[in-house]
Amino acid sequence: DTIGADLDRAVAAWPDREALVDVPSGRRWTYAAFASDVDALARALLAAGVTKGDRVGIWAVNCPEWVLVQYATARIGAIMVNINPAYRTHEVAYVLKQAGVSFLFASQRHKTSDYRAMTEQVRGECPRLREVVYFGDPGWDALLGRADGTGTREPFPELSCDDPINIQYTSGTTGFPKGATLSHHNILNNGYFVGESIGYTEHDRICVPVPFYHCFGMVMGNLAATSHGACIVIPAPSFDPAATLEAVQRERCTSLYGVPTMFIAELNLPDFASYDLSSLRTGIMAGSPCPVEVMKRVVAEMHMEQVSICYGMTETSPVSLQTRMDDDLEHRTATVGRVLPHIEVKIVDPATGVTRPRGTPGELCTRGYSVMLGYWDQPEKTAEAVDPGRWMHTGDLAVMREDGYVEIVGRIKDMIIRGGENVYPREIEEFLHAHPKIADVQVVGVPHERYGEEVLACVIPSDPAAPPTLEEVREFCAGRLAHYKIPSRLQVLDSFPMTVSGKVRKVELRERYGA
Ligand code: ATP
Ligand code: MG
Repeated sequence: DTIGADLDRAVAAWPDREALVDVPSGRRWTYAAFASDVDALARALLAAGVTKGDRVGIWAVNCPEWVLVQYATARIGAIMVNINPAYRTHEVAYVLKQAGVSFLFASQRHKTSDYRAMTEQVRGECPRLREVVYFGDPGWDALLGRADGTGTREPFPELSCDDPINIQYTSGTTGFPKGATLSHHNILNNGYFVGESIGYTEHDRICVPVPFYHCFGMVMGNLAATSHGACIVIPAPSFDPAATLEAVQRERCTSLYGVPTMFIAELNLPDFASYDLSSLRTGIMAGSPCPVEVMKRVVAEMHMEQVSICYGMTETSPVSLQTRMDDDLEHRTATVGRVLPHIEVKIVDPATGVTRPRGTPGELCTRGYSVMLGYWDQPEKTAEAVDPGRWMHTGDLAVMREDGYVEIVGRIKDMIIRGGENVYPREIEEFLHAHPKIADVQVVGVPHERYGEEVLACVIPSDPAAPPTLEEVREFCAGRLAHYKIPSRLQVLDSFPMTVSGKVRKVELRERYGA
């Protein structure tokens, strides 16, 4: 179905239930009010000359208008282009041109980012960009006013569920972001099935501190919510651990999202114990592997007994694998669950493409309704990632257990080859997390004359005044890890270089400390 038709169904079923709450401004929408604002915005876009297939950019931090734009563009079949709010002029100009954006919505400013100034600076370089509307600016009201002025009630365009409606750029963890083109069918189904595996109903209230610009927020958050009649709660414009827990407490949220580093930040708040998180039952942790210690605390101290782990990528709408509500701690920490309904997975030898037996590592490939239409305007890149049989090659190494649960070993690009031995950073990270002086750790391979690569551990100390030494770390590993896995270098840091979706950019750690 189309996203608009699905929203109509939600409104018919739950008109008076809350759909959206913005905690910073205190604004709230019932499903009926939300759909009516979505339709008003959709008509305003039509009146402004935006038609089916036009690219409408959105360059903004989390706010309710973001969500309205998502559904309004889907209503009229315009292709929404999500732009990373961390981008600066060079990057935003690239995306605006690459996707041929003609209409742009943007935040005015947030923290040190002046979106208005940056937009005005690049506007001249983007000949296809006709109009820009800033949230919270008179231009927004003027846009909505245009629809009223026409006095007509033009029908919305005819849409097919296979129409492209979204270009989502990947996180850029391993290189330059690529624009995955997705259809209603791709992302609406994915949102629905993700919500179904954690049992969402109209009684759920989902706290979404992850950016809407990324599929985690807009699909696993917004579409999972509206396809089950649940409520989207926005705790803050960008991730803020205290505001997140505050929102959970105040809005009695039942579900909380985050990448592992966000949960770590929340658990490490000095006044963590003072928040009442008893309303939580579930949530989603995704994007990167979760250390066991963190998962234990999320379950025990945040009441998220049914927390779900998801594995996916922007190119596959995003989720392919997910744990179920009743999975035990072992499956929830060591694996990313089983394949979602109507999706296939296989694990192949990356060199030959031959399927590997269960229990042996290989490249994870996925196929099904969720595979993107392609990278926008980059057919060569699409051909590298999606093979003629429509299998998406993920670039991730994984093992499928006998019981069908899949373990993610790491990215093919992050694997360290030290003196001919394959070293998987995750295993060492997992191990070092148990060191009392280490709050967070990332392991990368850096060039070494003799071994090709050696193991570098980048650590954030639990107490900045007493960081661990390399000797202490090596001693901790000695006798418990094979010698070639033991870090030979240590770098103490305050923070890691991150993508906005909350992932550590290992490439940058390698570049910075590899020399
Ligand atoms: P880019 O493709 O631009 O380098 P990216 O791959 O990080 O960036 P996304 O599409 O946001 O962009 O992320 C998908 C990747 O995130 C997956 O390929 C995988 O490496 C990683 N990932 C996602 N979920 C998990 C998970 N639960 N556990 C481990 N890794 C995960
Ligand atoms: Mg990727």
